[in-house]
Amino acid sequence: MSEGLKVTDGQVVAMDYTLRVDGEIADSSEGHEPLEFLQGVGNIIPGLESALYGMAVGESKKVIVAAADGYGEFDAEALVEVPRAEFPPQIPLELGIELQVRGQDGEIMHGHISKVGEETVELDFNHPLAGKELHFDVTIAALREASDEELLHGHVHQDSQEEED
Ligand code: ZN
Repeated sequence: MSEGLKVTDGQVVAMDYTLRVDGEIADSSEGHEPLEFLQGVGNIIPGLESALYGMAVGESKKVIVAAADGYGEFDAEALVEVPRAEFPPQIPLELGIELQVRGQDGEIMHGHISKVGEETVELDFNHPLAGKELHFDVTIAALREASDEELLHGHVHQDSQEEED
């Protein structure tokens, strides 16, 4: 059914991928279903999305994405010093501990502990891959035209479940 299709806006792409950062595998679809997303609406990072146009089912590609087109440059202003006393006692104050904090607008911000000092703890709200060059190996597993509803919502619907949003 997907024969002859090439990746373009408004298609649902199923993609196998492996992401390497600093030579290490950071993420991969191996052992899982391919990642499904709607092409052209920013479901995936811009530097990867733009490299997929014109690819056919079964086609593979290496894509190198600069930080600015990936998870953004590292932002020093996303580092926040918090007094130790402000942490609830059940949170271990150790490097790498991940935390969710509600921001001023009520949005959930994801951060991790990046420094533990005598009096304060530093939280880093950058994406863990901010500032990193991303090396993707991708293979297009399947393509199909998105439904009208998917185009309207700007994301993929699974056949097996009722759509709520
Ligand atoms: Zn939806």
